[in-house]
Amino acid sequence: MKQKIIIVGGVAGGATVAAQIRRQDKLSDIIIFDRGDYIAFSNCGLPYYIGEIVKNRDDLLFPTGEFEEKYGVEIRVNSEVTAINREKKHIQYQNVSGIHEETYDKLILSPGADAVAPDFAGIDKQCTFTLHTIPGMDKMNAFIKEKQPKTAAIVGAGFIGMEVVENLHALGIKCTIIDRSKHVMKIVDEDMASVIQDHLTEKRVDLILEEGLDHFNNEGKTLVLSSGAHIDADMTILALGIKPNVALASEAALAIGKTGAITTNRYMQTTDPDIYALGDAVETNDFATYSPRHVALAWPAHRQAFIISSHLNGENIAYRGTLGTAILKVFDLTVGAAGHTSRSLTDMELPYMETMLQAHSHANYYPGAEKLWLKILFNGQDGTIYGAQAVGYDGADKRLAVLATAIKAKLTVTDLPDLELGYAPPYGNSKDPINVLGYKASAMLDHK
Ligand SMILES: Cc1cc2nc3c(=O)[nH]c(=O)nc-3n(C[C@H](O)[C@H](O)[C@H](O)COP(=O)(O)OP(=O)(O)OC[C@H]3O[C@@H](n4cnc5c(N)ncnc54)[C@H](O)[C@@H]3O)c2cc1C
Repeated sequence: MKQKIIIVGGVAGGATVAAQIRRQDKLSDIIIFDRGDYIAFSNCGLPYYIGEIVKNRDDLLFPTGEFEEKYGVEIRVNSEVTAINREKKHIQYQNVSGIHEETYDKLILSPGADAVAPDFAGIDKQCTFTLHTIPGMDKMNAFIKEKQPKTAAIVGAGFIGMEVVENLHALGIKCTIIDRSKHVMKIVDEDMASVIQDHLTEKRVDLILEEGLDHFNNEGKTLVLSSGAHIDADMTILALGIKPNVALASEAALAIGKTGAITTNRYMQTTDPDIYALGDAVETNDFATYSPRHVALAWPAHRQAFIISSHLNGENIAYRGTLGTAILKVFDLTVGAAGHTSRSLTDMELPYMETMLQAHSHANYYPGAEKLWLKILFNGQDGTIYGAQAVGYDGADKRLAVLATAIKAKLTVTDLPDLELGYAPPYGNSKDPINVLGYKASAMLDHK
């Protein structure tokens, strides 16, 4: 049946859902609105353009006209959707020529999230940046090229903070990371984070923990921290996290969940069945505990796009919840995690056991064996795996992928020793570190 489908937001979730719908539905009219200049750009590549790893800016972009032609959709950029009238089934949007309306049969919200960037006292926005959009990247890049900064302060030691540090360091800029927490990278536990912190020290990155930014002095070039300490920096990057864009949904009286993101059901419908939502703006269930969870990563956005397009096509394929598998490069280290950390399990008051292993990426005697740290958190009674963490120089991505698959397949710790993962000296050991981790965890169950 031919329908008119309106999509708000045209990047990871919005562009993907448009392409997915078109694969199954050749008739419907699909219109994408984005308030920015660009659609379908690669947010994940932004830090690497700053560090000149990605040399060509165009490689991050998908030309609008090409997208329209390839998928038979209409794209309206620089057009911000400002209201939803659910009764009349139309949206209101604003562009240079004024305020307009467009009707819909089905509406899909993929407005993403915005970087958290409080107006700290004394801030100078010429030398303080966030990295979330192409214009944000261009502004940071232009500053670096023009002003040739020697020092940078990065406030926030999460994903984006870490990726920015590595890329600024590659340009010869001396970096200081500041974070309120006890350790960097909340996706891993403190013991795993200590490996990352040692590596940052090796790379001569300064790390200030358990301290927050309070305000700026000296025209934004001095950061005054919560303790009163001062840090001078030619540029500052605020990597303080993100906030889901829910204003449009909440003003239309769609439910917002307890994580602050848009409530969705298993088919990604909001509390209005004609309005779907996906990506960084939505709350889904946690894969392991079924509790509400908000995860801002590219995989959930892509999977949810498929769930929505299938549902529009009459197929009831349910979204099974988010595990939150994440991986990133921190200089020479790979850092990855899936599911829960000790902190999130403690917050949920869920009893757990944990085991950590320091192993090698492959047989010790074969050249290039590197240290590898693995950790799992699990139910002490039945061995259900709640979370996995992997840090290492080589082979950490492979082990993370195996453990994430194990969690999704609902394997328990007693299944891990039985996984046949393939062995030759350059790749692993006849007893892979995953097997060893499983033996260790199983023994803990046996001893109860
Ligand atoms: C620097 C960076 C690096 C990242 N690296 C990784 C990574 O390595 N791995 C990973 O899994 N994830 C990564 N992510 C996260 C990933 O990019 C997001 O999870 C994903 O883009 C979410 O897709 P989305 O469609 O929900 O939102 P977005 O891709 O942010 O798109 C939302 C779009 O909606 C538009 N919009 C908002 N409101 C309106 C409105 N009212 N009207 C019209 N348009 C509107 C916005 O302008 C924006 O273009 C990274 C993100 C950033 C910023």
